[in-house]
Amino acid sequence: MDYPGNLFVVAAPSGAGKSSLVKALMELDSRIQPAVSHTTRPPRGQEKHGREYFFLSPEEFDGMVLRDSFLEWAHVHGHRYGTSRHAIEERVAHGADVILEIDFQGAINVKRIFTNAVLIFILPPSWEELRSRLQRRGEDSAEVIELRLKNAASEMAQAREFDFVIINELFERAVFDLKTIVHAQRLKFAAQRRARADTFDALHIP
Ligand code: GDP
Ligand code: ADP
Ligand code: 5GP
Repeated sequence: MDYPGNLFVVAAPSGAGKSSLVKALMELDSRIQPAVSHTTRPPRGQEKHGREYFFLSPEEFDGMVLRDSFLEWAHVHGHRYGTSRHAIEERVAHGADVILEIDFQGAINVKRIFTNAVLIFILPPSWEELRSRLQRRGEDSAEVIELRLKNAASEMAQAREFDFVIINELFERAVFDLKTIVHAQRLKFAAQRRARADTFDALHIP
């Protein structure tokens, strides 16, 4: 499917800094729209229904699966997470740039459907740093942190499937890298041909 908008898919092992980076990007770039996922995980301290996630009961989640409302969904860290079709298809078709923050299985599945999706993998600079970020974030119990670290090993082994890799060591540098990937997509011929049609027409460029 070739849509006028870009679909950016950011995946990372838990604690690599994905949410912080996507938030920073959206503050710099008002053209990027987030797609809010649905999850059966309970909300963390400051999280609000409809902002970070739509928090659903397992039964509500089942209902959406049955109605085929998800573009993709996956089991992650003992809960279910899904991206609704509605959240992206229409917007990308109308030229919006949408960003998804999902796990690596979801990212690969989205790419099968939206072959032009841009897959970006965020890596931590080291195991020690990943562990200490999860501990510093203070949102998960020691047990949950160990589960997330264990999952991180198998997720990072899939990094090769992605189009771009960002190593989130210095935060500002990583934000710049993310911004650069977004910017480069907007400079592609087809995107420029659409965005600057008048200039191309005046220059007689088909
Ligand atoms: P070059 O990377 O040496 O060709 O030169 P640039 O002018 O592109 O950038 C110099 C350095 O500053 C590079 O490491 C860039 O990644 C970094 N840089 C450029 N713009 C920004 C920015 O807006 N924020 C941050 N944090 N770094 C930037
Ligand atoms: P994710 O969404 O990938 O699980 P978060 O964005 O919640 O990760 O980041 C995990 C923790 O690491 C947060 O406390 C965040 O403030 C911190 N963090 C993110 N990027 C960096 C960085 N470059 N250096 C140090 N700490 C970071
Ligand atoms: P967290 O509970 O830390 O917010 O997210 C846990 C994991 O679930 C992260 O890897 C996150 O990217 C992933 N995730 C969030 N939303 C979705 C989604 O809609 N689909 C899939 N496949 N994974 C998701």
